[in-house]
Amino acid sequence: MTTTVGAPTTFDLGPAQALSCRECGHQIPLAPEFACAECFGPLEVKYSFGEIRREDIEAGPKNIWRYRDLLPVPSDVDTYPNTEPGLTRLVKADRLAAALGVKSLWVKDDTGNPTHSFKDRVVAVALAAARQLGFRVLACPSTGNLANATAAAAARAGWESVVLIPSSLEKAKILTTAVYDGALIAVDGNYDDVNRLATELAAEHEDWAFVNVNVRPYYAEGSKTLAFEIAEQLGWRLPQQVVVPIASGAQLTKVDKGFRELGTLGLVEETPYRVFGAQATGCSPVSAAYKAGHDVVQPVRPDTIARSLAIGAPADGPYVLDVVNRTNGAIEDVSDEEVVEGIRLLARTEGIFTETAGGVTVATAKKLIETGKLDPEAETVLLITGDGLKTLDAIEAKVGPRATVPPSADAVHQALGF
Ligand SMILES: *Cc1c(COP(=O)(O)O)cnc(C)c1O
Ligand SMILES: [Zn+2]
Repeated sequence: MTTTVGAPTTFDLGPAQALSCRECGHQIPLAPEFACAECFGPLEVKYSFGEIRREDIEAGPKNIWRYRDLLPVPSDVDTYPNTEPGLTRLVKADRLAAALGVKSLWVKDDTGNPTHSFKDRVVAVALAAARQLGFRVLACPSTGNLANATAAAAARAGWESVVLIPSSLEKAKILTTAVYDGALIAVDGNYDDVNRLATELAAEHEDWAFVNVNVRPYYAEGSKTLAFEIAEQLGWRLPQQVVVPIASGAQLTKVDKGFRELGTLGLVEETPYRVFGAQATGCSPVSAAYKAGHDVVQPVRPDTIARSLAIGAPADGPYVLDVVNRTNGAIEDVSDEEVVEGIRLLARTEGIFTETAGGVTVATAKKLIETGKLDPEAETVLLITGDGLKTLDAIEAKVGPRATVPPSADAVHQALGF
């Protein structure tokens, strides 16, 4: 930590220099703040980047910390225990491409993170920043994956955690959070109720870092690592199209921010790209706003099997609309039945088992292709953000053994129709 006489305390968060309001542009020094004191708009991290070279990144750790010079984390980030998410595989998905009728398709497979979803990225960055900002407890309201990631990262760091979830969450997501032995509290209410409760508690407990509430500006930056990895894995260039699932919308806006930063820093050529958003129809407030041509998002009451995306009042909704409109993308939504079909299609063609959120992405991509919005000739990346093992209930009624037979070759042949 460096202190300048007469100036406010500044925290060492690497290249991060200030927080700036996304609405009115008001700037404040780095602090544990998330809302603008002038207009209540959301705050975003501003940087002063040094020279960043591809070779230095390539020589870095095989996880998100290779991009530390692009993130709001302390210069000595490696000296503290944290999780090591990222550098998940980018899979050339030729069989899925053929099934969807597109020329060149990639799947960014984030099931490979420590707790099997993209949330490990944002939590790791939030934890690194929260430590520097003086917090001592890691907390969150969660639709499931964030609960896993927060409880696991706190356990790894030796911090206490307080995790709030809707009591109706999938059993697998409850157990895979509870096992880390933090304080897991199931709340009778939906995610938006849980989120309100978290905001209230964050105001009362000054040493609790609610990763997606009071340290949200830092947390959200973690999603940029998806953009960095995709570009690096493509050989330091941007894809032409990317399909991103939307819950709060933070991920989608930060993937765009990541691509822009790479261009500005000269790490990739500034080629045009289009950002597409994916939602489940049972919780599609951003898709509805996009289709109606609105620039504000009307909250909804979620009702979908894609519970990890079930945020009825998405904080970053309007900024998602900005990104999609600016990049000439689109937003589409799909039924729960299509979500299950999406899960099965990805499994059948690429051997990747995703959760419902990934089903939303695949099914939405299919619909965007069928409706001519996604260009089948352009190179496309689908963000597969979570693991199917956490949402087994979604496919339970649809898949199972073809037959149950006695242990005889004849019986197997018969079952196979020979
Ligand atoms: C949280 C989540 C998302 C979306 O994240 P936002 O940044 O809130 O839009 C996507 N996929 C999965 C699996 C998630 O858990
Ligand atoms: Zn403001």
